[in-house]
Amino acid sequence: MPSGKVHLACELGTLPVWAAIGGTLGVERTPLVLFTAAYVGASLFLSPDLDLVHTDAARRWRAARFLWAPYAALFRHRGVSHSPVFGPLTRLAYLVVVGGAVWTVLHVVAGVPFPSSFPRDSVLPVLVGIYLPQLLHVLLDRGVTRLRRGR
Ligand SMILES: [Zn+2]
Repeated sequence: MPSGKVHLACELGTLPVWAAIGGTLGVERTPLVLFTAAYVGASLFLSPDLDLVHTDAARRWRAARFLWAPYAALFRHRGVSHSPVFGPLTRLAYLVVVGGAVWTVLHVVAGVPFPSSFPRDSVLPVLVGIYLPQLLHVLLDRGVTRLRRGR
């Protein structure tokens, strides 16, 4: 399977292509910026390989990498976590649960307020920005596996 560095190079290396396609299709500046930020963030921090404890993706979380240990324990490598549709959903749901727990602790201990509104307009570009690098990751994993098996 390709290394984390190869995955990251493919994902970030194709970003200008996706941004150019978005620009050609007439996507406005704000959604394009949201897409780009989500794409880079997902490439760096939400890799399907978070289903392994010792990966580049997990190391990028630095001191907070322990937060992904339960995810790695829950999901078998290249199982649901590498599903093009359900893989990103598992990580987003996991982030909501863990982030909600952390935010609740911060709210109780330090009085950090909960968000009072939700920017609905940003959902689609952010989701596309999260899903696209994940899809590239899975396609690269599957393509390299097929090449190695000689198919
Ligand atoms: Zn993988």
